[in-house]
Amino acid sequence: NKEVKMLELKNVTKYYGDFKAVDNLSFKVKDGEIFGLLGVNGAGKTTTFRMIINLLDKNEGTILLDGKPIDYSITDKIGFLTEERSLLLKLTVLEQAIFYGTLKGLDKKCIEERLDVLLERFHISEYKNRKIKELSKGNQQKVQFITAILHEPKLLILDEPFSGLDPINVEEFMKMINELKNKGTSIIFSSHRMEHVELFCDELVILVHGKSVLQGNLKDIKKKYRKKNIQLCCKGDVDKLKDIDGVLDIIKEAGTDTYIIKISDDTVVDKVFEVVKTFKSVTKFNVEEATLNEIFISKVGEAYEK
Ligand code: ATP
Repeated sequence: NKEVKMLELKNVTKYYGDFKAVDNLSFKVKDGEIFGLLGVNGAGKTTTFRMIINLLDKNEGTILLDGKPIDYSITDKIGFLTEERSLLLKLTVLEQAIFYGTLKGLDKKCIEERLDVLLERFHISEYKNRKIKELSKGNQQKVQFITAILHEPKLLILDEPFSGLDPINVEEFMKMINELKNKGTSIIFSSHRMEHVELFCDELVILVHGKSVLQGNLKDIKKKYRKKNIQLCCKGDVDKLKDIDGVLDIIKEAGTDTYIIKISDDTVVDKVFEVVKTFKSVTKFNVEEATLNEIFISKVGEAYEK
């Protein structure tokens, strides 16, 4: 039973001079999977993407797409949204689509048909014949995203796809990305915004100084992370809970009777519950997994302390 793997990095290392920007990095992105490459500024995300699309040479390791090294013969299977936004500002939206689409081997008719559908989808049909420099930043971003997916790539690489987008458009992008995933596209994206990652990524790796400090399936990572949160809604002397061994912190949600009790692990739940039983009007007691943001901050913090 052969494992389906679209993109595979094996022990990839990249130096800029003496500086190691990516350090022995390995991961796989399967068909129809959304993979998150996470890390603080300078962690090595863009460098990794550039090596995947062959813009940069790696010093060590291998990168395979569908089991083969990546060269120019297969780069038309890849779609790439760059961080530095590579739009041809003087061209109209249509002209730029034709420029990039032709490079990827599409004919004009097909490009225009697909472009019309996507512009409509992102509610920017009226900009089709406008110069890109006249568009707002968010709309430019949409055009760039459309350009990256016009040739229906098998592997879609999105470097910070949500930066500069308003919440409505973040949602629109996420919906589109999920649809592409369901059609079998492998998607790898980078982000600092853990709340975005949490919503739709299957697998992830967290980089610190180019090195993986945590990687795997998002659900497993959350399950395995020992610290949990108890969401509690009640009236009572909640501060008393601080005396319990294993209660790390209590945060009150402004303007409500809701508290988040941070605990060191599952074994603390019963001890907290014993005390909560004595409180009045308890309307909620809910044990939740830590957020990805908490896990991220803790893992990155630990890595810096080492
Ligand atoms: P950000 O989230 O800020 O975009 P990133 O995770 O994408 O960061 P990279 O751009 O990959 O990080 O950079 C990784 C490290 O390599 C950084 O310390 C950066 O300063 C360094 N670096 C990047 N490009 C070069 C270069 N051309 N020459 C020398 N150092 C570089």
